[in-house]
Amino acid sequence: MNITRRRFLAMSGAIGSGVALSSLGLDLTALKAHAAGLGKMDRIRAARQSTTICCYCSVGCGLICSTDRLTGKIINIEGDPDHPINEGSLCAKGAGLFGLTEVNEHRLRKVLYRAPKSDKWEEKDWDWSLKRIARLVKNTRDADFITHNGKGQLVNRVETIGHYGSSNIGNEECWTLSVGCRAMGLVYIDHQARI
Ligand code: SF4
Repeated sequence: MNITRRRFLAMSGAIGSGVALSSLGLDLTALKAHAAGLGKMDRIRAARQSTTICCYCSVGCGLICSTDRLTGKIINIEGDPDHPINEGSLCAKGAGLFGLTEVNEHRLRKVLYRAPKSDKWEEKDWDWSLKRIARLVKNTRDADFITHNGKGQLVNRVETIGHYGSSNIGNEECWTLSVGCRAMGLVYIDHQARI
């Protein structure tokens, strides 16, 4: 069902007066979606807006962060059209920033561990998880560390551990991680943003 602006306003009035249009056989899906969109726009207009910079890469795109004045919660993040670098546009990482806020109920909040050959995930605490990671890294380095390559050149590397970085970390975190990985001799270090 196509809804023009004029028709939408007329139907909004009907809904406001309590008339159940769906009982007349009309499909209100598009109307409800449109109304939900307008509700969000109104909330964003009434929100406190702060400008900030995307943390992810050195492009430094400008963002507008809208915070609900009553709850203090972020309700929207979008590109800043007045920012000279991005003029409102964002790459996929920046455009997904809002999904990192608490509004995203699917964010992982706990460590999930699946034992070898198991088909079940278990919740673990960080103490257990960090010890387990450290133990596996140590075992692998002890077993597989390569000091010299086939030409007899000193290489000091381990080829059986790879590190795949998150797209949700900033420049400084990436730097720290890559230094840590190289210090352990890793050579397979990658980052989602490159891919
Ligand atoms: S990650 Fe994307 S949105 Fe963020 S600063 Fe870099 S280019 Fe801009």
